[in-house]
Formats: sequence, C-alpha cells, structure tokens
Amino acid sequence: AHVITTACIDCKDGACVPCCPVDCIYEGARTLYIHPDECIDCGVCVSACPVQAIYEESRLPPELANFTAINREYFGDA
Ligand code: SF4
Repeated sequence: AHVITTACIDCKDGACVPCCPVDCIYEGARTLYIHPDECIDCGVCVSACPVQAIYEESRLPPELANFTAINREYFGDA
C-alpha cells in the first residue's frame, strides 16, 4: 500500500484525494491517511502530491519507515 508521511502534517493540500480511483484517502486532524487495505497501489497520488509526502511502503526512506505503522494504527488494524 501507499503511505502518506511527514510533509502532509499540517499541510493537507488534498490534491491526492480526487485523484484516487478507489477513494481511499481520508482526512485526519493534522494529516491525510491512505487506507492500507483499500489502496490498489496505482501510484497516481504520488505525483499528485505537491509536497512529495506519499511513498509506496517498500520505498519509504528509513527515517519515514514508521509511517506504515502510524497509518495502520489510524485505521485501527495495527
Ligand atoms: Fe489511491 Fe492509487 Fe494512491 Fe493507493 S496509490 S492511495 S489507490 S491514488
């Protein structure tokens, strides 16, 4: 699945939301989240994000690796 990271916090530009073909990007208090079980890994949101906040899980830089867990926790299936 794809994951939204640090750059989205307090940004929430939202350009990714209408781009997602399965509507799996949700708005939290300070950041947007991608539902890990609904994402079909199309990759469209990666280039739509103006602050490069989105990565495919396996391509997360080491300093952002914790966002996979943060994301799953948000959706309650950590
Ligand atoms: Fe939606 Fe595709 Fe991004 Fe997954 S990779 S969140 S399906 S736009």
